[in-house]
Amino acid sequence: MTEGAVTGASPAGDYDAIVIGGGHNGLTTALYLARAGWKVFVLERNAQVGGATASAEVTVPGFIHDLYSMNQNLFVGSPVYAEFKAGLERHGLSFASSDKPVCSVFPDGKFLGIYRDPAKTLALIRQHSRADADGWTLLHRHFAAFARSLLPIYGTPLPSMQALWTILRALRKEGVAECVQLARLMLSSTRALVDEYFDTPETKALFAPWGMHLDFGPDVAGGAIFPVLETFSDAEHGISIVRGGASKLVLAMVGLLRELGGEVRTQAEVTKIVTRGDRAVGVELADGATISARRAVIANLSVGPLFSRLLADYPFSPDFKRAVGKFRYGPATMMIHLALKARPAWRAGAEVGDFAYVHIAPYVEDLAFTYAHSIDGILPASPLLVVGQTSVVDPTRTNGRGEILWIQVRTLPAKIRGDALGKIATRDWDSAKEAYADRVIDKVEQYAPGIRELIIKRAVESPADLERANPNLVGGDSVTGSHHLAQNFLFRPIAGWSRYRTPIANLYMCGAGTYPGAGNNALSGFLCAKEILNSRRGVARFLRSSIRPSPL
Ligand SMILES: Cc1cc2nc3c(=O)[nH]c(=O)nc-3n(C[C@H](O)[C@H](O)[C@H](O)COP(=O)(O)OP(=O)(O)OC[C@H]3O[C@@H](n4cnc5c(N)ncnc54)[C@H](O)[C@@H]3O)c2cc1C
Repeated sequence: MTEGAVTGASPAGDYDAIVIGGGHNGLTTALYLARAGWKVFVLERNAQVGGATASAEVTVPGFIHDLYSMNQNLFVGSPVYAEFKAGLERHGLSFASSDKPVCSVFPDGKFLGIYRDPAKTLALIRQHSRADADGWTLLHRHFAAFARSLLPIYGTPLPSMQALWTILRALRKEGVAECVQLARLMLSSTRALVDEYFDTPETKALFAPWGMHLDFGPDVAGGAIFPVLETFSDAEHGISIVRGGASKLVLAMVGLLRELGGEVRTQAEVTKIVTRGDRAVGVELADGATISARRAVIANLSVGPLFSRLLADYPFSPDFKRAVGKFRYGPATMMIHLALKARPAWRAGAEVGDFAYVHIAPYVEDLAFTYAHSIDGILPASPLLVVGQTSVVDPTRTNGRGEILWIQVRTLPAKIRGDALGKIATRDWDSAKEAYADRVIDKVEQYAPGIRELIIKRAVESPADLERANPNLVGGDSVTGSHHLAQNFLFRPIAGWSRYRTPIANLYMCGAGTYPGAGNNALSGFLCAKEILNSRRGVARFLRSSIRPSPL
């Protein structure tokens, strides 16, 4: 059976809530509603639940690859995991962690790494550059202030009184001067950040690739905060992945949901949201069946798939339709899954083989070229490679029969207009993907000579494959819509609709396309459930109604 497959439930009778899409956010909302006593039904189009949180044997039988997300730190740190930990563990969830989370390798055969032990990391950076060690210490101080006082804002709805209080408390606790520094940091680009704190290209290259994990090229304002949060929290907590494969996370959620009375059906594609007047009352499936929902329909979908496909006939206002049509997606990504006979022989030394992630860029300037080419439709000459050494962190993935590499290629064009090297002539991802994967392996070969001979089998997922597998990954955008400032925070996904409601009564949305965005943080699923269970009038509603496009 496919990893993550669940047996179907029969759509008997009415439900309080229907959740469209069994991604981890949809399952999170379902868990909270079921726990509150609602009768909940989750409908997933694929044969397996999980969306971008899934694993499968795509190379060698018995080798379990994380197909999309691998690093589960955000889930481990989420309030959802804190609340449901015991139940999820009862249903098989556990994590494997690395205390060597991430390193970057360089053309001179050296590497710079971050260890779980902050003192060790600082000592290594000091060895590399005294000035960079001072920069690291100063930036760590800002991180600590942010984590202490402002990080909770990601777990509050926006706009809300709760968020306002969080900011006011931060001002009181950290002082105005520190908050001004934090505001600067949040608005900075990654290049502005690393140039301000570090001197050497190597230390800069430890931070900047994390911006590209979202959709921030080095020169995009607002890109600095994620690299700071990820780098220092990796230094404190390491990197965690799901023991036995990412599907075990979502299967544990399904197990718990069923225990709470919820139902889940796979291979159940919703083709239409049924409305009566301005109210959502149910859904229509690809097989023609309709299922009604008394209290809520929740879409774990991005705005395009939700409003343009499932509500194509609904009479939204021209302003709202325009906002939906103008929703911006980030550049594409591509996944290469390798089954290897043995660990790669890293030129920078055997210790590189212990790190959960190896970033191969190598430098900030390379990221800038790659990003500019991607958004311009050009296949980059030398993209950022995020090499996840999955089986090193979790040896159960191969049980000693070899190694797994998870390579995420960042960033790429959604539609190909040309090739920076002039070698790939096709403009179609289906025919370009293997040639481009060869370019990626050539790049890995420069840093880990002999890798080609180690490959038993590879599986490549192009941007087009990613979208076919999950309609939320429009154009192969792994983050379900750009996180640039104009489409983030209270502007995500659409200004005025950041609190999981839609212009249609009883229709809610959650998922990476909504605030606080991509990653396995489960937060939009959590906040969406709170909004449904706890809807209130007040300042938030006033603010929302004063800035959003009119619904009808
Ligand atoms: C290649 C890749 C690598 C990533 N790496 C990481 C990482 O290492 N760490 C991290 O934190 N994040 C990572 N991410 C991002 C993260 O995985 C996603 O942001 C997150 O999984 C989104 O979860 P979600 O619940 O919002 O929706 P999704 O995972 O998009 O799930 C939505 C579900 O809805 C289903 N669906 C869609 N349309 C319909 C329909 N009409 N009817 C029924 N079902 C439907 C889909 O099939 C899918 O299962 C990565 C993403 C990708 C693509």
